[in-house]
Amino acid sequence: MPRPFDFFLSKGRETAEAGLAGTEDARVDGKHQPPSTLAALRAENIWKSYEDGSIQVLNGVDFEARPGQTVALCGPSGCGKSTLLHLLGGLDEPDRGRILLGSAEIAKLSRTQFLRHKVGFVFQLHNLIPDLTLEENCLIPTVAAGTPRREALARLHDLAGRTGLTHRLTQRIQKLSGGERQRTALCRALMNRPGILLADEPTGSLDERTSRQIFDLLLDLARTDGITLVMATHDRGLAAQCDRLVEMRDGKICE
Ligand code: ADP
Ligand code: MG
Repeated sequence: MPRPFDFFLSKGRETAEAGLAGTEDARVDGKHQPPSTLAALRAENIWKSYEDGSIQVLNGVDFEARPGQTVALCGPSGCGKSTLLHLLGGLDEPDRGRILLGSAEIAKLSRTQFLRHKVGFVFQLHNLIPDLTLEENCLIPTVAAGTPRREALARLHDLAGRTGLTHRLTQRIQKLSGGERQRTALCRALMNRPGILLADEPTGSLDERTSRQIFDLLLDLARTDGITLVMATHDRGLAAQCDRLVEMRDGKICE
């Protein structure tokens, strides 16, 4: 499980918080149309194992998300959803296969080039810093990205308004409810205007009603801003609202 400060420490986490700009919205009349343009995100024949190969997790995954598409990644616990999301976001490296952001292969990018491809992450447990305020937590990725403070605050106020958090900005995370914490995590992931958002069971630790509210918000934010969203979830009801549902089983996609 990632720790709150990890995103400062690794290429991947920093990028994860930094948020792919300039992706093209491929939806027409609210429905996804298969476009002829490049995929926003693409995995080609991905293999991944742990413990020196004794735990084989991904067995030749091929996956792609079109620009602006919302994709639900479903499958039983342990089938490799989180592992795939981590690889898609550059948080870990595959044993074999390629991950591409647009036309750029992650493994061949320098740190600086990689950071230009903005990818946001939302985790099941929000991974916020409990002693800091909502505002402070959300400003961290903008400091890492070198965004001027005034610009960052304007972005935060916009996101806080859209997520109903304006009145909670100066509150410490530990004083917030589960739903408010996850809304804060959404804001933080969106601070640097990502083109791709990867969400790993973002509603998995919430009650049903809050879970639905957070999911609706997530989908609305992604669609309004034309963000490509890939979300792992157990909840088929929520998954059905995405443009596409991708089924994973035993480390493979069986769409
Ligand atoms: P899911 O998200 O679909 O529940 P995961 O991708 O988390 O599945 O895990 C897939 C399998 O890989 C599981 O059997 C899990 O125990 C194993 N696994 C995940 N991460 C590690 C790790 N860092 N070290 C060893 N095994 C791992
Ligand atoms: Mg998981």
